Amino acid sequence: AKHKGKSAYAHFAPEMTEVSHERLQMESRMRRALELNEFELYFQPIVHTDSGRLASVEALLRWNNPAMGMVMPDRFIPLAEETGLIIPIGEWVLEEACRAAYSWREATGLDIGVAVNVSPRQFRDPGFTGTVMHALKNSGLPHNQLELEITERLILDNSIETAEILRQLDSAGIQLSVDDFGTGYSALSYLKSYPFDTLKIDKSFVQDVMKESDDASLVRAIINMAHSLGLKVIAEGVEEEAQTHFLKQEGCDLSQGYFYSRPLPADEFESWLRTNQRV
Ligand code: C2E
Ligand code: CA
Ligand code: CA
Ligand code: CA
Repeated sequence: AKHKGKSAYAHFAPEMTEVSHERLQMESRMRRALELNEFELYFQPIVHTDSGRLASVEALLRWNNPAMGMVMPDRFIPLAEETGLIIPIGEWVLEEACRAAYSWREATGLDIGVAVNVSPRQFRDPGFTGTVMHALKNSGLPHNQLELEITERLILDNSIETAEILRQLDSAGIQLSVDDFGTGYSALSYLKSYPFDTLKIDKSFVQDVMKESDDASLVRAIINMAHSLGLKVIAEGVEEEAQTHFLKQEGCDLSQGYFYSRPLPADEFESWLRTNQRV
């Protein structure tokens, strides 16, 4: 038994070391990334389903690191959460997103809002509401043009603090949406007690509405439920024209996805605005 244990150790140890070395290296690179200006926001249009006119943009974070190339958020947000680095990074995202939305509003005269993703660690930081208010004040963006996207996972904790922060943000006029709606395995009762404005139907449901009648039924049910609770609905992950017809027919307020545009760097989003919104 002793021998077996030892060889198992010898076999697994190098791999573990490699993984944690990679993690440590990524962490130390992430610590410097803000100073070195390696983060960049991409913007994806959110349009009115019936007219195709722009309603707002979702800010999506990218990390451009010389050694690692373009790193997508699914690869680094979890580590940023664990290390707490999501707090300064999230602050940068808020400031930058509000500034960008303000400048597009000024330049085009369009009523453009911006949606920003908020992770649980960031939301629970005692400085969070202060950070949000600072980003709004600093940019000049009207409060009701900022939408914070919060995942169902965060709401699940059911704490008094969560409820209190949501209440504060809501009474400051900030828009609140439930991101990845339908994936959280949560009861729906929170929709009644929390001041949300919007539900974002997860792309996993939207993607198969034309293939799976169950998914079509679910999306239809979510839209109807949201409307009867006075909430707006965004369908994310819209990739095909047929999906837009379905969503229009079902009265889905807003849509987002590759069919309209991929997430774009700021300058490409500005060209998109000129070509697609005639500004
Ligand atoms: P999310 O909030 O659910 O964002 C939607 C994701 O779907 C984005 O991936 C977007 O690029 C992708 N997407 C958009 N349209 C389509 C489509 O038509 N088809 C498909 N297949 N995908 C589509 P991305 O940019 O890689 O972001 C992944 C996740 O990372 C986001 O999921 C969000 O949870 C997180 N994230 C992104 N930026 C931030 C940020 O600034 N802060 C925090 N805390 N999380 C962020
Ligand atoms: Ca989101
Ligand atoms: Ca509200
Ligand atoms: Ca999502």
